[in-house]
Amino acid sequence: MDFNTENKLFDWARGFVVDLDKNTGLSPQIETGARYLSQMKGAFHDEEAEKALLAAGDPVIYEFHRNQSRGTKGDLIFGCSIIQPGKVGDEYHMTKGHFHSPADICEVYYCIGGEGYMMLENEAGDWSCLALHDCQVCYVPKGYAHRLICTGDTPFVVFFVNHAECGQNYGAIETKGFHKLLVERDGRPAIIDNPKWAE
Ligand code: MN
Repeated sequence: MDFNTENKLFDWARGFVVDLDKNTGLSPQIETGARYLSQMKGAFHDEEAEKALLAAGDPVIYEFHRNQSRGTKGDLIFGCSIIQPGKVGDEYHMTKGHFHSPADICEVYYCIGGEGYMMLENEAGDWSCLALHDCQVCYVPKGYAHRLICTGDTPFVVFFVNHAECGQNYGAIETKGFHKLLVERDGRPAIIDNPKWAE
């Protein structure tokens, strides 16, 4: 039980606790959303595989739960992303990915289930792809676009914390994606060049 609280949801002034696990029940006003394959046109490199999956029923690629209330400057927003296991062709399920707006805001991701990768790249094309499993934290530095990729057989679940004033900027990701792709080769994750960046 709680002590000395009015039990207001999202009491940005005095503190609060919310439930973020949909299996045990989300708190009211926790916004949930799902990204279906049909909402990620062109994100995966194998267009034939994408078409076949869409014809068979448009799978959920990832979901998110976050607080609808954002607080004000100096507060933090947080939530969970859940990337479902699976592939489109040889490419693992992943989030769309984004830069921050303003660009000089960093973020942390704490993995609480499953396994996968964080793909990072900056405007200059510097990139890395970091393996991440439960109880590990990924630090996303300023100026780097970031994308989560599920490579395990179970949902890849991460908790994120970010500044309340942070927006998302898709930049070149919308049209070309990231410079590198994570695909399955001989049963293992491998990096290949994204053909859309070749020209
Ligand atoms: Mn972010």
